[in-house]
Amino acid sequence: MGDRQGDAGDCIFCDIATRRAPSYIVYEDASTVAFLDLFPFTRGHLLVIPKRHGARLADIPFEDRMAMVRALDEVCRRVERLTSDYNVALNVGARAGQVVFHVHFHVIPRYGEANPFLVRGRVRLSDDDARELVRELARS
Ligand code: AMP
Ligand code: ZN
Repeated sequence: MGDRQGDAGDCIFCDIATRRAPSYIVYEDASTVAFLDLFPFTRGHLLVIPKRHGARLADIPFEDRMAMVRALDEVCRRVERLTSDYNVALNVGARAGQVVFHVHFHVIPRYGEANPFLVRGRVRLSDDDARELVRELARS
C-alpha cells in the first residue's frame, strides 16, 4: 500500500465510497462518506472520508476538505448518542501512523479507558455490533 499512495485504482476506501467493497456506512452526502472502522479502537469508531481519492489533505480540493469537516460535524453530533466524549484524529503520512492512503478522519468514542492513546489488541468488528451501531448512527 505504501508504494501506491496516489493510486485511486487500488484503494480500499475508494472501493468503499463507490460500494465496490462492503462497509457499514452511517452517513453519506455528495462528496463524503462515513463508515464504521473494521478494527475499532472502541465501540462506534468511525472513519469520515472524501469520495474523491487523495492520500493527503493537500491532495484534495479545498471544497472537499470543507465538506469533510461539515460531515465530521454531523457525525460527531450523532456519536454523542453513544457517549459524550470522543477523539477526532487525522493521520497524515506514514510517520504519523497513516496506513490507508486515502484521507480520513477517525472519530473515536471514549468510555473511560485508562489511557485512551494506548493501542490495545484490536478486535474485528462483528456484524451484530455493526448492525446495532448503524441503527444508532445512521439516522439523522
Ligand atoms: P490509518 O492508520 O489512519 O491509516 O487508519 C486506517 C484505518 O482504516 C484503521 O483504523 C483500519 O482499521 C481501518 N480500515 C482498514 N480497512 C478497512 C475496511 N475495509 N473497512 C473499514 N475500516 C478499515
Ligand atoms: Zn482512495
